[in-house]
Amino acid sequence: MITPKKILVTGGAGFVGSHLCERLLKEGNEVYCLDNFFTGQKQNILHLLDNPYFELIRHDVTAPYFIEADEIYNLACPASPIHYQHNPIKTIKTSVMGAINMLGLAKRINAKILQASTSEVYGDPHIHPQPESYWGNVNPIGERSCYDEGKRCAETLFMDYHKQNNVKIKIIRIFNTYGPKMHPDDGRVVSNFIVQALKNQDITVYGKGQQTRSFQYVDDLVEGMIRMMASPDQFTGPVNMGNPNEFTILELAEKVIELTGSNSKIIYKPLPSDDPMMRQPDISQAKKELKWSPKIELDEGLIKTIEFFKSVI
Ligand code: NAD
Ligand code: UDP
Repeated sequence: MITPKKILVTGGAGFVGSHLCERLLKEGNEVYCLDNFFTGQKQNILHLLDNPYFELIRHDVTAPYFIEADEIYNLACPASPIHYQHNPIKTIKTSVMGAINMLGLAKRINAKILQASTSEVYGDPHIHPQPESYWGNVNPIGERSCYDEGKRCAETLFMDYHKQNNVKIKIIRIFNTYGPKMHPDDGRVVSNFIVQALKNQDITVYGKGQQTRSFQYVDDLVEGMIRMMASPDQFTGPVNMGNPNEFTILELAEKVIELTGSNSKIIYKPLPSDDPMMRQPDISQAKKELKWSPKIELDEGLIKTIEFFKSVI
């Protein structure tokens, strides 16, 4: 008989974290979901609370926490620009001190630890698509820096704990991910456009909408995270995880209007500062090392996400 693993998921009540907790429980593991509920919601994990293999811990990762676990997924950090810019000092503390605290725990209990890093480490990229070998183009003192530089520093910490203390680490760089359980007020583009379309409100395109993003459905990401955690110890990453199909923001707006059958009109608002002009993952490494590639294309994923938002707004 296989003994169930004890798995700690920080940020487990958030959008991605709650999908991950659900999947890990389904696979027969014991899951500890640690969250301070800054952007996470009880609603996301309410259906798991009766499960005897699920435990909810209200805690802030900027403070140390001790528990016995075999694996740690470190997701705690607000991910939407409006949320991470709300209290930038707290955001960078969450990334940096959260990484130090969770790496310290992993070292002490000899657990394997995965960091949810981001395509934001590439900033406004000069290389397209972005391979993991690209060092990025990040403004260290701009509106997005608390998030971008916090995540970059966390990657450094992960690598140094690995090199200096032999901690078993995994780093994934997640590209724009969407799906059910995003908060309706999350502020990210997919949730904003769907909510606006369902309410027949104006669709707010920032700038001219010619900037691009590559959108990944959440189930594909969760599959990739689990494969990464299960990969041989010597494969630490960083590895890109995203869907290489790239769209302009204007194309996304038009698609959402079409799929919802909405009467919404597109309006244009100023482009936020340091907003990356293009983003597309090079996923050759994930394909080779993890035999992973995304399966759910934008139309299919949007339809599922639209159904979710219809039920909550
Ligand atoms: P989210 O905001 O829905 O979830 C983040 C979770 O972390 C929330 O439950 C929040 O309450 C919790 N949290 C925040 N600060 C905390 C703290 N100090 N202590 C404990 N918990 C804290 O965002 P998400 O989209 O689910 O993102 C999850 C992770 O994936 C984040 O680390 C994010 O940077 C990374 N990521 C996400 C995307 C994406 O497109 N969704 C892209 C790149 C990277
Ligand atoms: N965006 C937009 N309208 C919105 C929200 C976002 O045009 O209502 C744009 C935003 O300027 C960016 C892109 O959509 O160019 C993706 O934004 P999001 O906040 O989802 O993610 P990130 O910028 O972190 O990739």
